[in-house]
Amino acid sequence: MSTAQRRIVIVGDSIAGCTAARELRARGHDGALTMIGADPDGYYARPPLSKHVLKGDGAEAETWDLTDLDIISIVDLAVSVNTDRRTVTTADGTDVPYDALIVATGASARRIAGADQLGENVLRTFADVRALRTELDTARTAVVVGAGFLGLEVASACVARGIAVTVVDVDPPLRRLLGPFLSDAIAARAEAASVQFLRADSPVSLVGSPVSGIECAGRTLEADVVVTCAGDVPETGWLTGTGIADARGVAVDECCATAVPDVFAAGDVAYLRTGPGRAPFWSNAVAQGKVAAASALGLEPTCAPTDDYFWTEILGLSIKVVGPLPLDGEPTVLEGSVDEGSALLQWSHNDGRTTIVAFGIKKPVGLLRRLARDSAVSTN
Ligand SMILES: Cc1cc2nc3c(=O)[nH]c(=O)nc-3n(C[C@H](O)[C@H](O)[C@H](O)COP(=O)(O)OP(=O)(O)OC[C@H]3O[C@@H](n4cnc5c(N)ncnc54)[C@H](O)[C@@H]3O)c2cc1C
Repeated sequence: MSTAQRRIVIVGDSIAGCTAARELRARGHDGALTMIGADPDGYYARPPLSKHVLKGDGAEAETWDLTDLDIISIVDLAVSVNTDRRTVTTADGTDVPYDALIVATGASARRIAGADQLGENVLRTFADVRALRTELDTARTAVVVGAGFLGLEVASACVARGIAVTVVDVDPPLRRLLGPFLSDAIAARAEAASVQFLRADSPVSLVGSPVSGIECAGRTLEADVVVTCAGDVPETGWLTGTGIADARGVAVDECCATAVPDVFAAGDVAYLRTGPGRAPFWSNAVAQGKVAAASALGLEPTCAPTDDYFWTEILGLSIKVVGPLPLDGEPTVLEGSVDEGSALLQWSHNDGRTTIVAFGIKKPVGLLRRLARDSAVSTN
């Protein structure tokens, strides 16, 4: 079938889906290209949402214009797929036929409220941020559940707004992702900026409806605003019964192909069958969007299906990481000083691979990638 006749449908309208769309056109697909996306706010980037958009100085989401790609855009939920007939059905009952399908439905925020509890704040969409921003405008106290990168970015926004914030987790901040050395360094900076940390000995529950506080370690902590940043869950409900998804997300091979012919997947919804699980970060979604698009056209991808660069911004400190995680033990300090909030760090792993971290120090990502690659030791 020529590319002009091939109908490609992308479900999911964020970075993985939009990257796939752009790559499809760049690689010569001149046939029909349909994007089904559920977000009425359209195409926008999530990373700024928890950073300057949440801080509230009037910043809006960073949006993308895809009008040059000649896309048929359907703003609706995909509710099911028929892999025999090769159609995706949307909530309004429309059947959209495909020759190749790219699943890019990402993830949604994991919620912890009980079924009868209203008013749980999470942070995943632009609409979530608008609602949270409004609450923060009048808040004096906040509790953030979850001390991962998202929870700490929300805490940073609270500090910037002069709101007294407590972050609750069963683990120390960012320990699971970044290991003890960086966790301690980040906690020290946060505490110096008056962020309080509360260690929970069991999963935290929310109190009130609307939610007005948390219950943790036998005591109740009330706050003007409570925000849950407790991880994400892959958006696979619409794939039920197709064999495309399982409890972990959508398993893909190195070409981002799923177990079902002509169905590919990319981004937060996907995980490499040979890897440890989903890696829900921006650069990974970009890489997989490109690979899924190439594979949907039967072409060789121009990049690998994983990219282990990610970044965060905590209390004005930019942290960029390239390489495998978590980070055990002490790093080699290549430049600067962690205590002074500006350092270039290197971790060497037992398998010969290296992780480079720019901790509050301005370094281009290309340089970090080069350092990680060049300092890796072959164990063969
Ligand atoms: C607030 C925030 C800050 C972040 N900051 C960073 C950061 O600093 N650095 C970093 O590396 N990563 C960061 N991330 C992670 C990064 O944004 C994600 O990895 C990336 O957005 C994943 O893109 P995606 O396209 O796979 O999925 P998503 O961004 O989850 O998008 C999926 C899209 O599919 C749509 N969709 C879902 N189900 C359906 C359906 N059934 N039918 C139709 N459409 C559907 C959704 O509406 C959504 O728009 C952040 C994430 C968030 C939420």
